[in-house]
Amino acid sequence: MGDTHEPNLFPVPGPDGHRQRPAGTPCPWESVDRRQAARDGATGPEPPARPVCPHCGLPGERRLTYTGQHVLLEPLLTVPTHLVPGGHRWHVDPGGQAWNGGLDEPPPGTTCRVPHQLTCPGLTLDEIKPWRWLDTVREENARRAWRQADGADRPDALPDAG
Ligand SMILES: [Zn+2]
Repeated sequence: MGDTHEPNLFPVPGPDGHRQRPAGTPCPWESVDRRQAARDGATGPEPPARPVCPHCGLPGERRLTYTGQHVLLEPLLTVPTHLVPGGHRWHVDPGGQAWNGGLDEPPPGTTCRVPHQLTCPGLTLDEIKPWRWLDTVREENARRAWRQADGADRPDALPDAG
């Protein structure tokens, strides 16, 4: 067995086989990819399960994403990108792979796809949270309202700073 100092990029049989991660072993980056996929709405169902929504039973258009997960897109629905909440704007490459446009400002006149979960009759908006940044503002305002009701937000309640 020669020592070539070259990286093993694929499983090799024989004594060097122990250097390869056994099939099915979790990879450290997997949880990061899965969190990102969940944030992006790429939550399957994964093959070989049928591309059917687990909440309402309707079929979706399943596409592989660049995180390796699958997203269930609403079939045959293309909408102006500016009408879709950031983080839910999906695009499909000519090769058929889907990617999420994130929170970037969409170019004028563009269209995108939406994940089925945004249109799912089996989920509420509270479960989907399509406007996450607005939820954050609302939560902060709720805290401010509680502080104000407690009198802690009044100017005379502030400590004497000098
Ligand atoms: Zn559904």
